[in-house]
Amino acid sequence: MSCDVDLFVIGGGSGGVRAARTAAATGARVALAEDRRMGGTCVIRGCVPKKLMVFASEFREQAALARGYGWTAEPGAFEWQTFRAKLDAELDRLEGVYRNLLTSTGVTIHDMRARLSDPGTVELEDGTRVTAKHVLIATGGHPVRPDVPNAALGMVSDDIFEMEALPESVLVVGGGYIACEFACILNGMGVEVTQYYRGPQILRGFDDEARSTVARRMQEQGIDLQVNTNVVDLRPADACGAEGLNSTSNGSVESASATGPVVAKSTSGAKQRFDRLLFATGRAPNSRDIGLEEAGVAVNQRGAIEVDAYSRTAIPSIYAIGDVTDRINLTPVAIREGQAFTETVFKGNPTAPDHDLVASAVFTQPELGTVGLTEEAAREQEEIEVYSATFNPMRTAFGGRPNQVLMKLVVSRSSRKVLGCHIVSDGAGELIQMVGIAVKAGLTKEDFDRTVAVHPTMSEELVTMQTPTRAT
Ligand code: NDP
Repeated sequence: MSCDVDLFVIGGGSGGVRAARTAAATGARVALAEDRRMGGTCVIRGCVPKKLMVFASEFREQAALARGYGWTAEPGAFEWQTFRAKLDAELDRLEGVYRNLLTSTGVTIHDMRARLSDPGTVELEDGTRVTAKHVLIATGGHPVRPDVPNAALGMVSDDIFEMEALPESVLVVGGGYIACEFACILNGMGVEVTQYYRGPQILRGFDDEARSTVARRMQEQGIDLQVNTNVVDLRPADACGAEGLNSTSNGSVESASATGPVVAKSTSGAKQRFDRLLFATGRAPNSRDIGLEEAGVAVNQRGAIEVDAYSRTAIPSIYAIGDVTDRINLTPVAIREGQAFTETVFKGNPTAPDHDLVASAVFTQPELGTVGLTEEAAREQEEIEVYSATFNPMRTAFGGRPNQVLMKLVVSRSSRKVLGCHIVSDGAGELIQMVGIAVKAGLTKEDFDRTVAVHPTMSEELVTMQTPTRAT
């Protein structure tokens, strides 16, 4: 029986778009459905607008540094509305680029929700049924609020980009990528930022020395970071008044449709009013109500679609990539998974996406760039040497600004391979991309040592550290 299309992609984010257009380029008949804006989380409500906000937020510190060099310019006030208008226009432009990428390769776009009605049929929101030889699920994920009374009062990351005005104060809840990035962004924009993290140190899973360096810098820049602290109750500030959460019999906002000023009660019992609260408490796969049960596709306890090394589900014609599979939830990984899918299914070249030694960066201020094993994980595995340097680099030291850079290599004592590299500095995202090549190539400490330094730079430390700071 012939099908309407060779491939139906559900989800128009980075992974889905890459798979759709590369499959179409092989001559396959491809359709793609997206029920929100084309481009998905990364382009519309994630990496791209976030990075533009990072840039916007850095100018205040840049102005302070400039004064240290003799400039008299003051930064003045940050105008959120001006930035928002430019951001909206840029996202419109990028969405257009993504659409063009699809249509120019012949992909048919359906701007509506789609769900599987059986393994070989996709049903669109308007009732149209499309039969497909292969289906690729690339529906991404969504931010989740914790189970706290009146949690609907808190924003999630999607809401940040649509704020009408900057709040005067914000409580950020969480200690992962999104929490730390937005704490720094909002602080840089002049918002009074408090951050609660439930554990003893933010950025769990990253190298201990790196995460404590970032935490220290965040605090020095004015973020009120409170660890071992969480929110236990929320009330609308207007309902509680200045008294806060004294009453438990009123102030419920179960039906609240909008976020707004809150009075938050913390695990320590403290009650404080904030103009806004941001829950950055993790994300969950978008696997509900897309017909997985009807098609017989299995999900794990977290709701992530279970796939093999080739991104194939238990149903041979159905594949899944990106955050909905909850492997490594990063845009470039989803793109690689999409590309590998096309190689496997449409080019007769079975390709398993490589999830080993993926570098990443947390866009805090300063940034944290990381690839490979943390010192702690490496020590569990084998005997190691640690080479680590912390310093205030020339640029900020001369300008009289506080700063602390960390350059760190974790080295295997037996193979001499660099097992991990962790950088905390301005531009660490850019630096770790390059070091990632060396670590991925399996280069040794001696290979790093043979490389002549570029002087004067911060990263020359990576090729000049002679004596281990620690060895086990
Ligand atoms: P993360 O999983 O990184 O962090 C979630 C944070 O919320 C953790 O600190 C976690 O604490 C905390 N948390 C979870 N549940 C609760 C709760 N009930 N109460 C209080 N705190 C809670 O998720 P993010 O949302 O920050 O980011 C999601 C993913 O998106 C990242 O893992 C990353 O893959 C990707 N991303 C990548 C970026 C980049 O590359 N720069 C930027 C943004 C996102 P605990 O540590 O104790 O579990």
